[in-house]
Amino acid sequence: MGLSKIKSPVKGDWSFMNPPGHHPDAKDFVAVDQNGKPYEVAKVIRHLCYKLSVEDTYSWEKKIFSPFEAEVIAVKNDAKDRMTLNIFRDLVNGLIIAPKNGKNDVEYFLGNYIILKSEKAEFALLAHLRQGSVLVSKGMKVKTGEIIAKVGNSGNTIQPHLHFQIMKESDPAKAIPIPFTFEYSQVCDGKTEGTMDSTLPKNWKKFRV
Ligand SMILES: [Zn+2]
Repeated sequence: MGLSKIKSPVKGDWSFMNPPGHHPDAKDFVAVDQNGKPYEVAKVIRHLCYKLSVEDTYSWEKKIFSPFEAEVIAVKNDAKDRMTLNIFRDLVNGLIIAPKNGKNDVEYFLGNYIILKSEKAEFALLAHLRQGSVLVSKGMKVKTGEIIAKVGNSGNTIQPHLHFQIMKESDPAKAIPIPFTFEYSQVCDGKTEGTMDSTLPKNWKKFRV
């Protein structure tokens, strides 16, 4: 069996912004502009002063699509989004405060999420979804490309993004992410434009899906 080929769960211009220590086969999708940035460059100062809102980012509330025909295995839809961006607060909370309070369970880290099971018995995890945006429920069947939720800022995040991974088992606490590719994507960093049909775009490189 070859690599799992999926339809991208988002549309438009994106970049994989995996932080250090992130599993390489799980991807953090961040929507970007032509400069490959997650929000207007002029807003960097506001970000540093903790005045940036989730609404300033391109990822916030972007539609998420089912990557394959699937059955919905699990859903969480009621975790709060953090409405402002504050890397310091969120790192301290995620790395120190939450684990100290016993909040180091998977649900805390994922925020709102959907787990899908494909006909090939592969599972997709989509996490950090917008509170209340999940349109599917456990047991439902979804078609490839069906809108299932919106990008949010729930769980352990430093900015709105979609955490996405494919797994061989349904429990994200035990499963190891496995590699996947898109049916279709384009590198669009202005230097190496071209269609990519067998390899996934590299981290931090802008691509169009
Ligand atoms: Zn992630």
